[in-house]
Amino acid sequence: MVRYDIAIIGTGPAGISAAVTAKIRGKNIILLGNKNLSDKITRASKIENYTALPDISGSELAQHLHSHLESLEIDITDRRVSTVYAMGSYFAIQADEEIIEANSVIVASGVMQGKTLKGEKELLGSGVSYCATCDARLYRGRKVAVIGYSDDSAKEAEFLSEIVSEVLFFPMKNGVVPEVRTNIKIINEIPREISGEKTTSGVVTDENEYAADCVFVLRDSVLPDTLVPGLETDGSHIKVDLQMRTNISGVFACGDIAGKPYQYIKAAGQGNVAALSAVEYLSHTSKNNS
Ligand SMILES: Cc1cc2nc3c(=O)[nH]c(=O)nc-3n(C[C@H](O)[C@H](O)[C@H](O)COP(=O)(O)OP(=O)(O)OC[C@H]3O[C@@H](n4cnc5c(N)ncnc54)[C@H](O)[C@@H]3O)c2cc1C
Repeated sequence: MVRYDIAIIGTGPAGISAAVTAKIRGKNIILLGNKNLSDKITRASKIENYTALPDISGSELAQHLHSHLESLEIDITDRRVSTVYAMGSYFAIQADEEIIEANSVIVASGVMQGKTLKGEKELLGSGVSYCATCDARLYRGRKVAVIGYSDDSAKEAEFLSEIVSEVLFFPMKNGVVPEVRTNIKIINEIPREISGEKTTSGVVTDENEYAADCVFVLRDSVLPDTLVPGLETDGSHIKVDLQMRTNISGVFACGDIAGKPYQYIKAAGQGNVAALSAVEYLSHTSKNNS
């Protein structure tokens, strides 16, 4: 198995900037995220404060970022990372169904909007899942729920419906609903709670309670301490120093996930610093190992 020098999680300005700098510094990198980049880029109608690119639209900025990646032959690996495990001298990254190994990690996953649901954190791993590809097989022939905050949640629900007996789909993003609906039931109610004592029993809305053996909560981002267990956070942000180092040696964070202000240019600048810090970290660890 290839062990990358640096795994970069996130395809917003922070992750792309980190990838560009790390590649220019000659590192073997993998950039994990979304081939369409971040929807926080593509949705912006007009950006006035990105240095050297005045009055640009989000889709134009996305084109520039794509071109920059292409010019350096950096591919985006279209995968959702659910967990990063510290293995001692390296990191194992669960990206959909695949495990990827890297000597260092840069987390540039953006900030999670909104709060977690009541019961979500307590039941995570006991019937609450953030990854349909990873956990679908555990619920073969059973009834599950999908709370769909992300763009890909409709496709994930369709995938689940091929394995489980029934999918209850709660659409949380405008226009994102499964097309194939043989055993998918759309429920247009707002989930308030995931119920259950030791294991998950269902979803509670303002109007009803729905039984389900597993609840897949599919967001564009996950909470940082869920993504990398043991990371020091202040809730929704990862604590970093000025070199973008976290409390875990070899893990760096940049962009919105590293705190306010939420700005493109700040995210890109921090991505550059995180990559340079990762390069320095790798030079120390390779000296110590030789
Ligand atoms: C409508 C809108 C307009 C804006 N206008 C401006 C503006 O004019 N000027 C300005 O400076 N800022 C603006 N912002 C703020 C700006 O968008 C953010 O500060 C910036 O995008 C943050 O970049 P980032 O790289 O940290 O994170 P993001 O852009 O949020 O990118 C995070 C990326 O990580 C990926 N990701 C997340 N979790 C995972 C995972 N587990 N596995 C794999 N990939 C993952 C996501 O899919 C995404 O691609 C605007 C935001 C919005 C929503």
